[in-house]
Amino acid sequence: SRPRIVVLGSLNMDMVLRVPHMPVAGETLLGRDLRHVPGGKGGNQAVSCARQGAQVCLLSCVGRDAYGEQLLASLQGDGIDVSHVMQASDAATGVAVISVDDAGQNQIVVLAGANQWLSVPEDLLESLLRDAQFVVLQFETPLAEVEKTLRIARKVGCRVALNPSPMQAFPQAWWSGIDVLVVNETEASALSRLAVGTPQQAAVAARQLLANGIARVVVTLGANGAVVCDADGTRWHEAVQVQAVDSTAAGDTFLGALTVRLAQGAPLDDATQWAMRAAAICVTRAGAQPSIPHAAEVEQLTSATRWSRI
Ligand code: ATP
Repeated sequence: SRPRIVVLGSLNMDMVLRVPHMPVAGETLLGRDLRHVPGGKGGNQAVSCARQGAQVCLLSCVGRDAYGEQLLASLQGDGIDVSHVMQASDAATGVAVISVDDAGQNQIVVLAGANQWLSVPEDLLESLLRDAQFVVLQFETPLAEVEKTLRIARKVGCRVALNPSPMQAFPQAWWSGIDVLVVNETEASALSRLAVGTPQQAAVAARQLLANGIARVVVTLGANGAVVCDADGTRWHEAVQVQAVDSTAAGDTFLGALTVRLAQGAPLDDATQWAMRAAAICVTRAGAQPSIPHAAEVEQLTSATRWSRI
């Protein structure tokens, strides 16, 4: 079955620089090349959902400029419905300057631009969420839009997947409206106020976050895999071993793949295994949206990963 998923989020044109190492303050570095690659968390998550076979509607905002046109054309190439993407008249399309070093680590500066002006009419949002199994949210768009979406999702019974990135504090009242929260180490640590470096620490933090009244928590740990927590307890899934080239969009690939599997009725551990394989493929390729795999590629990656209760 092809689940219907609405993604409300950002679109950015990524300017990707390859650097030998991350520059420190005051340092001048020679980069190797500059590429323009479609990105932005909302766009990336939409692409991940679409390549996993979902019918995706993206709610976003671009400027009236060439980057905006290129981003929309690229998303349409993935069969994503961009008919409700807004065009801001006074703001440029969002841009991210991404430095990637030889170890595949990245450092990102985002200029939100038109993303700050995203404002979806309530009646449109309600009619879209009524038909969708999931709405996917992150924090690169105004929090007022996130709050509005949570309220409407609750009203019409649409499940919510939230990736609170870039991390901002959010009201206590939001927790009970979230079906699955996906956080990396930094976000897990900020929300729980606990140190999160090891899988054991992630498990403690995940249990604490779950106690806020949320159904499922997933803490992604990069090359250390992910810790998942629900009413059935806490499990650690080891990552698929790959040669990392560029981790950009690994988290977004993970979230998209996880959401599609959950929408199809998979148990949390099965969905996590699938999402980890998708994310592992993503880190072996450069760039944001071009690096996100299709379901058929994930199917072919048969390397099993271990998981256990923690
Ligand atoms: P990013 O901001 O780079 O997109 P993130 O910080 O949101 O990433 P991570 O925890 O780094 O998220 O990665 C998400 C998932 O991607 C991990 O749970 C893991 O499954 C996979 N992953 C990331 N890095 C690696 C790696 N080096 N090897 C294998 N899998 C990886």
